[in-house]
Amino acid sequence: MKTFNRRSFLRMAGIAGSMAMLPRTSLAAAPRVVVIGGGFGGASVAKYLRLWGGNVNVTLVDPASAHVSCILSNLVVTGLVGMSRITLSYQTLRTTHGVSVVQGRALSVDPPGKRVTISTAKGNQTLDYDHLVIAPGIDFVAPPGNWNPSLTPHAWQAGTQTTLLKNQLATMRNNDRFVMTIPKSPYRCPPGPYERACMVADYLKRMNRAGAMVVVLDANASIQAEPEAFTRAFNVTHAGRILYVPNANVQSVDSASRSITTSAMNVSNAKVLNIIPAHRAGGIAAALGVNASGFVPVDPLTYGITGYPNVHVIGDASAVPASDGKAVPKSGHMANSEAKVCADAILRAFNGEAPDRNIATSSACYSPITARSASWLSANFIYGDIFDATGAVKGKGMHRVDLGEAPTAQIDQDTYQDMFTWADSLFTDSFA
Ligand SMILES: Cc1cc2nc3c(=O)[nH]c(=O)nc-3n(C[C@H](O)[C@H](O)[C@H](O)COP(=O)(O)OP(=O)(O)OC[C@H]3O[C@@H](n4cnc5c(N)ncnc54)[C@H](O)[C@@H]3O)c2cc1C
Repeated sequence: MKTFNRRSFLRMAGIAGSMAMLPRTSLAAAPRVVVIGGGFGGASVAKYLRLWGGNVNVTLVDPASAHVSCILSNLVVTGLVGMSRITLSYQTLRTTHGVSVVQGRALSVDPPGKRVTISTAKGNQTLDYDHLVIAPGIDFVAPPGNWNPSLTPHAWQAGTQTTLLKNQLATMRNNDRFVMTIPKSPYRCPPGPYERACMVADYLKRMNRAGAMVVVLDANASIQAEPEAFTRAFNVTHAGRILYVPNANVQSVDSASRSITTSAMNVSNAKVLNIIPAHRAGGIAAALGVNASGFVPVDPLTYGITGYPNVHVIGDASAVPASDGKAVPKSGHMANSEAKVCADAILRAFNGEAPDRNIATSSACYSPITARSASWLSANFIYGDIFDATGAVKGKGMHRVDLGEAPTAQIDQDTYQDMFTWADSLFTDSFA
């Protein structure tokens, strides 16, 4: 992807010496971009719009005063790092990059009127935009029954849920069961649930909880990411501590008694019941229209939505056209990657240019397997023809060109250290 800084942006606008002829706006009225959601997608797009765009007014709206990262959050649940390690401030976006950060929640979007209504501590406000980027992450589809996340947490959005699950895990004693569910794909971070099972099993071992174990109720027919690494982790590294149950569709949850009924196994009175429900796009994005899986279809060259090319959805909330069986994963790394494509497309649009067609995106996940070892997974995508299950071209989109997984010999302490280096560089690239 071509990248450009403020100088080249202005040069492309043909106004390197004079600021009077921005194609759609003047300096007195710098183009306005509103970004909803300050996670990996939203923070990155806000930063790069300012970094590359210069004369662009960027307002980032998020209900929280800082973002708490899901990445590394299983280490918080199991006591290996503290919450401060995964709490990412918006301060540098404000002070270094000139992003206007507003603490508030977007309530509604009016695409024809190019306006967003937000609620803040001072009451409701409207924000006008030329382009809008929506990056709200995910919402959950409540399972049948009386699921109450305050009793049986998901901890799949980090923050208070992470602390709740950590505190519940700390109450486990000998022979207790930690029961967790995995929703049908697509869900955020394909290896993440299997990573959690490993980290909880490792915690129970470290705490000498004899006979205590993890029951993994997976709605999918098989392990969804790094099957070799996790099969080995379940059967060898954590042998006797993890019971993996595939095809376990949730039929009913009773949070009060921490009991669950599935198509494959029922459990009553688990000590901890960690329900990770099915996902859909965060509500503010979903209101614009979703596909059968509950995510918002986008144009992968711009992340614009059908009918409103100046409204963009990036990160976990989006559905990117991809070759069958090679979906673009929902990950923080991918959200950061999509944010750069989206920022570039918006700046080109301000300049009257078509989006770059020569684009690539990538994803990486590091999964701790024990307190001293980790695995990794990466995937790269390029824009072009995408294929159906028979290999016939079905359209244009992001085609996965490679998939890398840690060989068994690399599931070690070096990779565990690499995980922190990778995470810190993603945190910095997105938030600082
Ligand atoms: C346990 C676990 C481990 C993970 N490990 C990895 C990993 O190794 N590598 C990796 O790349 N990814 C990993 N992920 C996935 C990663 O966390 C997500 O894919 C990523 O956070 C998605 O970014 P996003 O910007 O789409 O959403 P988020 O980061 O969730 O951000 C969404 C933001 O939008 C805000 N928001 C929501 N609604 C509104 C509204 N109406 N108005 C204003 N703001 C709103 C929220 O407050 C939030 O701050 C992991 C996830 C989990 C759960």
